[in-house]
This record gives sequence, structure tokens and C-alpha cells, in this order.
Amino acid sequence: MLLFTPGPTPVPQNVRNAMGDATMHHRTPEFEAIFEKTRKHLFNLFKTDEVIMIASSGTGAMEAAVINLCKNTLLSVNSGKFGERFGKIALSHGLKNEEIKNEWNTPVSIEAIVNAVKNNSDIDAIAVQISESAGGLRHPVEEIAKAVKAINPRIMIIADGITAVGVEHIDVSNIDCLIAGSQKALMLPPGLAILGLSTHAIETIGSGIGYYLNLASEIKKQRQNTTAYTAATTLTIGLLEVLETIENNGGIEKLYADTEIRANAVSSALEAIGLHIYPSTPAPSMSTIDDENAAEIRNLLKSDFEVNVAGGQDHLKGKIFRINQMGLISNYEMAWVVNAVELCLAKLGRRVYDGTANKIFNEITFGMGK
Ligand SMILES: *Cc1c(COP(=O)(O)O)cnc(C)c1O
Repeated sequence: MLLFTPGPTPVPQNVRNAMGDATMHHRTPEFEAIFEKTRKHLFNLFKTDEVIMIASSGTGAMEAAVINLCKNTLLSVNSGKFGERFGKIALSHGLKNEEIKNEWNTPVSIEAIVNAVKNNSDIDAIAVQISESAGGLRHPVEEIAKAVKAINPRIMIIADGITAVGVEHIDVSNIDCLIAGSQKALMLPPGLAILGLSTHAIETIGSGIGYYLNLASEIKKQRQNTTAYTAATTLTIGLLEVLETIENNGGIEKLYADTEIRANAVSSALEAIGLHIYPSTPAPSMSTIDDENAAEIRNLLKSDFEVNVAGGQDHLKGKIFRINQMGLISNYEMAWVVNAVELCLAKLGRRVYDGTANKIFNEITFGMGK
């Protein structure tokens, strides 16, 4: 079965092997050397002033960001489940929350953010997904960050890049906190989250807040290549292997370029067989199709063609399916995925099978077009 869900993503064999060694003690020079190397790679990936790894799923990093960077009112962007989560986190900690809500295929507008900030001087932090995984949507985070900083540079910009870091280039010049998680673009099992922080964010954090998620304690320790509490040793070893594998496969810029070409090739292939791309501004992390037969297509992909893709949640349950584009993906696997989708449409009696999806995918991917 091919795993093509936008999280969890497949863990490469060499990464699984690297994580298969005997457990290492976290307070040892051996582990500190691994931690230091991993940090160096992470600085290259995040391009932020500081990076912090914490043992938690991605949501833990979202919570750490909100509590350490917001003291008053969080402005959050809800175009899907993950954006909604930021608001819930703020409220659960007694912070105030203002939310800009849109349908899950619609990115937040920069004007809506600017107006909210101008009308409510209590807003001291903004949280937004770069790629909102609920509908495969790309928000204009860099432009939002720039516009907000021009109004008030003290407002903290928290960018959830859990399905964006390692997928596409992100301009972090106006972002204060950039979040990643292990089981999406980073091709690891779940349980490790990473925060990239600006110098301005570090000043705002000060002595930090909370206990386990107190970022000040972690910044202090991680600058010495250790952690405040027990490090996720196995996942850190795996992360180093992932980041070295990306390096050895041509580097991160090549991965971004390959991902963009592949995501475009998939969109074109699926549109050519009559399918519709759901988000108005698709993120390269996944290809999301809305379709009246979404549930049937997803079931057929699994039962007849050994392809596992994700469905939708809440009001989009049974209405969309999502194909992963994150990680090191082989073109021959993706060619099979788009071909399998076409076969499903033929099985449903929607079109006569003629291999169009596969043809378009290959023409674009391998430059074989006219
Ligand atoms: C998966 C995901 C999360 C949540 O991460 P968990 O690891 O499930 O806690 C947050 N934001 C985005 C955009 C995601 O895709």
C-alpha cells in the first residue's frame, strides 16, 4: 500500500535504520554531538535566529508559541481545523482571541488582518497556518507579516509551517515563530516539534511562561546542545538522518523545486481528467480535490489500487480527498497515484479510461510536452 496521506508521511528506510540502534543516553557527549549537528541543519532549513526542538506533536509547539508570545489577544486565522486550534489554545490559557473565519478553500485577506490589527490595539500576536492542511490551502503569510510589522513591529507573527517547512521556500524576514512537526514534511514518526524563533521573539519570551513548554528554559539549554527535559533522542537521530538525506539528494532548494513541479504536474493531470482543485490558492504540500464521489474514489484507491490518500474532516468529510506532496517522493509512485485516480473514475463510469492523467503527469514531470 502506498501511503499518500499528508501526514503521517512515509519514513525512508535509511531513516528507520538510523533509529534502530540501541537507545542512547541523552546526557552524553555522543548525543550532544548529534544534537549540535541537527541544530546546524535546522538553522539552514528554518533560516531563523534560533531553533528549538521539543518532544511533542505539532500541537505542543503551537501551544508553546501562543503562551510564550501572546500576553493579551491572539488574532487567529480560521480557514480550517488547524487555524481553529490556535484560537482554542489561546482561550484555554485565558488569553483573548479574535478570529477571522473563512471557508476552507479561501485564504485570509491581508486587508482583513490589517483592519483587525488597526481596530483592536489589544492584539499582540497573530497566528496563521502557512499551509492549512484541512483543505490544502496556502495563506499569504509573508505578505501578512510584512503588512502587520509595518503597522506595529511589536506584534508577534506565529506561522504554523507544519506542512510547509521542508516543502517550499518561506521568507522568514517578518516571521517571529515558525513551527514544524516531525510526521509531515520531515518524514519522521510523530513526536518531535521544532520552533524557529526571531531575535525579537526571544526578547518577547523573556523568562518564558509555563513549565514544560517554557521556551526560555529550552533556549538556554539548547544553545548548549542539550535539552531542559529528556530529549526525544531517537527522533533527533532520525531527524539528522532526514536532513542529511535531503543534503545528499541535491539539497533543500532542489527538494522545493521538485515538489513544486510534482504538485503542478499532479494538479494538471487531475484537472485533465475532469477533477477540480479545492483551494483557490493551493499549497504545494498536498493536492486537494473536491468531488461528489470523493468518498468512493478514496475507498477504491485503497481497495483496488493500493493507494492510501486522506479524506476531509468535519463538513468536508466525504467531500474532498487529499494527496500528499511532502517529503522525498518518487515520481514513479506519483505517476501510479494519478493513474489510479483515473482508473477510479473509469470504475465509477465517469470516463473511458485512456491514460490521460499518467500522460500529462509524465509530460510535465519529465519535460516531454510539446
Ligand atoms: C498536523 C498539523 C498540525 C497538528 O500537528 P499534530 O502533530 O497532529 O499535533 C498543526 N498544523 C498543521 C498545519 C498540521 O498539518
